Amino acid sequence: MTPIGGGCLCGEVRYEYRGMVGPAAYCHCEDCRRCTGSAFNVGVRLETEGFFLVRGAPRAFTKAAESGNSLTRHFCAACGSPVYTSSPRHPDCVFVKAGSLDDPAVVNPAYQSWVSSSVDWAEIPTDLPAYKRGRS
Ligand SMILES: [Zn+2]
Ligand SMILES: [Zn+2]
Repeated sequence: MTPIGGGCLCGEVRYEYRGMVGPAAYCHCEDCRRCTGSAFNVGVRLETEGFFLVRGAPRAFTKAAESGNSLTRHFCAACGSPVYTSSPRHPDCVFVKAGSLDDPAVVNPAYQSWVSSSVDWAEIPTDLPAYKRGRS
């Protein structure tokens, strides 16, 4: 099986994965908003046994989520990119940030959670001006 690769913006943290790519979930909770700096997080469930860090040593930050679950968020200390999340309650899986994957086509959105705390700007209005590249 060809491994799936991913990593942070600067390339200091790299991972490889061999296994089934689980469902991707949008999370609108406030913690995900803050740690991504965006409207929501998109997390992809991978099996821990197939997930390997092949470069770098991400820093980690642990916080109890509103659900009571303790979540550890792993991020690159050099560039700050969030890379993946783990939880002692679910040692069998990790959740990688969808945007950290080298091939975004493997992401399979399945559901969204915490829509009760979703912000109005989580949806992009179709009538906004849209530029093929950066607005110059
Ligand atoms: Zn980095
Ligand atoms: Zn969340």
